[in-house]
Amino acid sequence: MDLLFISTSVGAFGTGIGGGVELTIANVCQYLLEKGHTVHLVAPSGSVSDTIPIVALPGALHSFAQNDRRDSPIQFPSNSVVGAMMDYAYQIQGRYDLIVSFAYDWLPFYLTSFFATPLAHFVSMGSVSAALDRVIVQTARQFPRRIGMYTHVQAQTFGTIAAQILSSGIDLDRYEFREEPENFYSWIGRIAPEKGLEDVAKLSEKLGIAVKIFGKMQSESYWQECCNRFPGAKLSYEGFFNTDELQSRMGASRALIMTPKWVEAFGNVAIEALACGVPVISYARGGPVEIVRHNETGFLVEPDNIEALAAALDRVDSIKRSKCRRQAEQEYSLEALGERFLAWFRLITNAPA
Ligand code: UDP
Repeated sequence: MDLLFISTSVGAFGTGIGGGVELTIANVCQYLLEKGHTVHLVAPSGSVSDTIPIVALPGALHSFAQNDRRDSPIQFPSNSVVGAMMDYAYQIQGRYDLIVSFAYDWLPFYLTSFFATPLAHFVSMGSVSAALDRVIVQTARQFPRRIGMYTHVQAQTFGTIAAQILSSGIDLDRYEFREEPENFYSWIGRIAPEKGLEDVAKLSEKLGIAVKIFGKMQSESYWQECCNRFPGAKLSYEGFFNTDELQSRMGASRALIMTPKWVEAFGNVAIEALACGVPVISYARGGPVEIVRHNETGFLVEPDNIEALAAALDRVDSIKRSKCRRQAEQEYSLEALGERFLAWFRLITNAPA
């Protein structure tokens, strides 16, 4: 197939600003390219990749939809990069069998019926905006095969909606299994309020445990606030790393702790941890509910309950790290991910398998 992908509009591809969807795009592209398909990725200028052919376009980045109020009107920066990306896609659509937008923005959904080449959408977050919900749900009604999402719990945040559930996957060869943990825990994600960093700070202060924090520093003021509120917390901000570095640094953690305050659409960090043999302890909220096998590859605890997190940490040695790796191999390989996406694309284009 000849495929045109449209990247997230909140940051240049390859910088990590876009969060987990960047890894998903990279992994899907890697598989498709290996299988001999053609993929071009349209992305904001400054985007980088060693392997994916990128068409980088100038334009103003969009703000994070989750930072606005739910009832906010749709806002467009002047010279919007989404406008530029959709304009480009419109001009050259005839060269492709399918266009897939990974942008969580109003315009690409709205434009779906105006394109002659099928335009599909991978929705990377749960519901955060009434106006976006409306255009996503309308698109799904008109084109029931054209919406892809990570998880069922994510899809449910939009009410009743036709969506292909595609989960996620990673290149397992890039993640080293680590049988023996060292004496620290990890927390991985954008440093942003929806990720609930304050809860891990509180937990660290309460139990005196060391927690290494990996991820894009999206909000410096939020980081400071978490540190100030829990001065006894032993959090160390390690930085933002590429996949190879990230897995080597967090692979020896006793567990990954996830404290999402929103309905996490998936949580790529959970499957990255499992691939290294790291158990996942998470609030039972959003994507991790569909990933973690409770008592077997981690623990799902009552959301926002620090005592419950502490009790789970106490039991972490009961989890066999080899089972974590095995689950990643069984459910989240690159091939499984790529084949799910290909099946979705064929459903839309009616291409033979
Ligand atoms: N990540 C990374 N380097 C780091 C920390 C995180 O590349 O040092 C990536 C991680 O691999 C994952 C993403 O950041 O793909 C976080 O995605 P997730 O799905 O967990 O949450 P999101 O940011 O999309 O809400």
